[in-house]
Amino acid sequence: MKRILIFLGIPGSGKGTQARLLVERYGYMHISTGDLLRRLEKDPDADPADLAQLVLMKEGKLVPNELIYKLLFTEIEKQYFAGKNIIIDGAIRSLEQAEALQTFFETHGMVEEVEAIKFKISDELSFLRLSRRTMCDSCGDIRPYMPDAEVGVCEKCGGNIITRKDDNPEIIRARIEEQGEKAIRPIIDYFKNKGELIVVDASRSVDEVDEEVVEKLRALSAGRMTEESNFINA
Ligand code: AMP
Repeated sequence: MKRILIFLGIPGSGKGTQARLLVERYGYMHISTGDLLRRLEKDPDADPADLAQLVLMKEGKLVPNELIYKLLFTEIEKQYFAGKNIIIDGAIRSLEQAEALQTFFETHGMVEEVEAIKFKISDELSFLRLSRRTMCDSCGDIRPYMPDAEVGVCEKCGGNIITRKDDNPEIIRARIEEQGEKAIRPIIDYFKNKGELIVVDASRSVDEVDEEVVEKLRALSAGRMTEESNFINA
């Protein structure tokens, strides 16, 4: 049986970093809607109408659902039918999106394989992390605050280390306003009610969070995950 993991968490909760670890170790395919949008931005063949929507992204607002569904569903189908386990990262930012994805899974017979993981941090920690992080503009590797990393090259691929355009204080505030804890609460409750939610404390170090994720996924595979241990402090 394949596995489809839905990563939930507010910006800066470390979803992308944790996804990369599972990709490296277990060969998951990482589908991030933020990455799909950034890839679209650089695509010379992109539809100008789609590109016009990306201005919302620069303002820290959500882009329209239709564009997300078009990019996301195409990518899931491609990876799933190539036999891959998948991590879906950042794709669900409203109840409407959660329901649309559920319908997609039902139509494609994928429901049994889906599990959601919430990476739990506070809005305050989100602000702190986003205002300090940098990333590689080529391979997308994300790094926590490093004083000398603003100018430099990525040691993994040689790409440029940059600050993401939407990681400036004003835009970060807008993103937390629209995508923070209060905004994702109904989504968390949606998965909790379906009995498909694992919660990890993402305020700790990358390694500690990784350890908890792997441990909980193992427990899930072994059928040892109880409702209680899933939902503590959701
Ligand atoms: P991320 O890289 O996940 O932080 O996403 C960067 C930006 O892309 C967000 O601030 C939104 O503007 C946009 N975005 C990503 N995923 C979605 C989504 N599921 N729905 C709407 N907008 C999204």
